[in-house]
Amino acid sequence: MELSQLDIKYVQGVGPRRAEILKRELGVTTALDMLYQFPYKYIDRSRFYKIRDIQDEDTYVQIIGKIIDYQTIGVGRAQRLSARFSDGEDEIELVWFRGIQYLKLQKGVSYIVFGKPSVFNHDWNIAHPELELLEKVNLETHKGLEPHYNTTDKMKSSSLNSKSMMKIMAQLMQPLSAGLSETLSADLLARYNLMNLTESLKNIHFPSDIKSMQRARERLKFEELFYIQLQILRQVKRREAQTEGFRMPRVGQAFNTFYHNYLPFSLTGAQKRVIREIQADMKSSRQMNRLLQGDVGSGKTLVALMCALLAKDNGFQTCIMAPTEILANQHYETLTSFLSKNKDGIVTQQSVARVELLTGSTTKKQRERLHAALLNGEIDILVGTHALIEDTVQFLNLGLVIIDEQHRFGVAQRAKLWSKNINPPHVLVMTATPIPRTLAMTVYGDLAVSVIDELPPGRKPIQTLHYSNLRRDKINNFIRQQIELGRQVYVVYPLIEENKKMDLVDLENGYRYMTEQFPEYRVSMVHGKMRARDKDAEMQKFASGQTQILVATTVIEVGVNVPNASVMIVENAERFGLSQLHQLRGRVGRGAEQSYCILLTRVELSKDTRKRMDIMVATNDGFRIAEADLQLRGPGDLEGTQQSGLPFELHIASLATDGQILEVARTAAREILDNDPELELPENQLYLNQLYRLKQQAVDWGMIS
Ligand code: ADP
Ligand code: MG
Repeated sequence: MELSQLDIKYVQGVGPRRAEILKRELGVTTALDMLYQFPYKYIDRSRFYKIRDIQDEDTYVQIIGKIIDYQTIGVGRAQRLSARFSDGEDEIELVWFRGIQYLKLQKGVSYIVFGKPSVFNHDWNIAHPELELLEKVNLETHKGLEPHYNTTDKMKSSSLNSKSMMKIMAQLMQPLSAGLSETLSADLLARYNLMNLTESLKNIHFPSDIKSMQRARERLKFEELFYIQLQILRQVKRREAQTEGFRMPRVGQAFNTFYHNYLPFSLTGAQKRVIREIQADMKSSRQMNRLLQGDVGSGKTLVALMCALLAKDNGFQTCIMAPTEILANQHYETLTSFLSKNKDGIVTQQSVARVELLTGSTTKKQRERLHAALLNGEIDILVGTHALIEDTVQFLNLGLVIIDEQHRFGVAQRAKLWSKNINPPHVLVMTATPIPRTLAMTVYGDLAVSVIDELPPGRKPIQTLHYSNLRRDKINNFIRQQIELGRQVYVVYPLIEENKKMDLVDLENGYRYMTEQFPEYRVSMVHGKMRARDKDAEMQKFASGQTQILVATTVIEVGVNVPNASVMIVENAERFGLSQLHQLRGRVGRGAEQSYCILLTRVELSKDTRKRMDIMVATNDGFRIAEADLQLRGPGDLEGTQQSGLPFELHIASLATDGQILEVARTAAREILDNDPELELPENQLYLNQLYRLKQQAVDWGMIS
């Protein structure tokens, strides 16, 4: 019988009740589904240890020997069962703290003990070891790499632990040997030298040796990534074929006037390049979907403006969406200031293009005026927040949508924007969170990417320093020195939802501390729980230099621009992720002065935290930081994708470490689709069927825009 038709409940050792749990907890209904539950690790059972050879706390050992004696010690919750176990030469203690009443130890018979040794009272012991009677173990099969499976609490309480998962897998090896329908063509298998499916599934569960296990893993990772790429690329091709984009071939008066008479500095090489890339898209009849990545301070806003001017030159309107009101305001100010004074210093009142602002605080009256001016085409560029996508906001001819810091916008919201004109407008997503290439490829498929990899001239790289809390005096001196030089200082505290109350207390204590330490200066405070109006007022005081110190939560993370602020102090830096620290750091170094980022942590740090701090100190390169972040935390936690999450589950491949396999799988998928976009050729039926099967497994491919 095809394993994809075999209901898991009929497999020996499963039955209806466990089948129900497997379905609910793992989504497994067939024998084939079960075989795709891969081990997360293997333990080498080929080696037997002598007690005196034990050296490591982290390595599992198995020992053959006998229990000499055992006794229960302590009472109540502190009770434990302790046994003396001898391998004939030395002894080790075995100890159990739970489930003591179920243990039936026999003295003088031979056991295989299996577990992780640890040191207690200067001596080795093994807590909660596995015990098997030696006479019951077939030493022939008890060898090699033992698979270990992830299980949930619900599974465990129905005695579906890793061991019983392994037993079920063992039951499936027999029918598996009869062979499975292959999911990759013979051509792909040969070309990339991949193990076939039947062999791979055998070897992923019960590898004959490490090499075969690795080959099996490689093949299964390839399969997983290949089908994800095939699906994404197919969707992209369809979209390209179906949607027409607005053609914007002209470079006209708005763009040229601005470029020649207004632009107060020369564009960086990188800015010029990305503008050309974007323009090429806008000129073609394809609808643009482009990600513009550029580190904080790299000048993305200006690029956005110049693209909007190109749109205007072709008779189209642009909207620029920001995630927060503060940011929308700031963009608005930046754009109007760029547009309101030409090189001769003449105030021209936006004669190049008309920019307006629409946010939650726009009054009803202003709103009505804006709506009218949008509809009759008087407004060229509308800057705003979510308020922009309300249905009441209609454009005469929206042609370009620019989204700043995309991760705060949902897919549904983007879809709404698409419906504001007969064709979907071109979309440019700007982000300062560098997205590692592997992730961008997987999540965004063929989304084109432009990178501004150059900062405007004259910027001094930010110096990053890491200190423990104990060095506060030194840091306060430094702050004072900087303020005396005329600079301003950010002090940022973490604030997370789960710990909101305590975090706010920390923040307020921090505020009080700063006012006490610096009575001669003025201190502002902002946090997300303040009313928008108060928050803006406090921000404004800092931005205008009335206050010298701003104590804040991460509300200032994105986009706030106060060039005179040259010091960023991050309190409890251990609680921030790498990307977030990098974003925060980007708030300084925006002026001509040398800037500093000071990371404060407690003294004792975990290995990972120390690594994070070291990376921050070592580099200002956002891409290196994003790669490191992906490696340290895994893609699920990566800031910027957190909200949407990956639109599929990865069972075996890892975006952090399998970049190469991903590239190969992607090339393979692309070649197939270039040749046969709808997978209609007979030799590609295989792929179509497998895509269909994967779709049945409730993967929400629609998440990919
Ligand atoms: P981003 O949004 O990429 O973080 P901004 O657009 O806010 O960066 O630009 C940061 C600062 O650099 C702004 O003050 C901007 O006016 C300035 N700037 C942008 N491009 C240039 C350039 N080519 N030369 C000099 N300064 C620039
Ligand atoms: Mg910006």
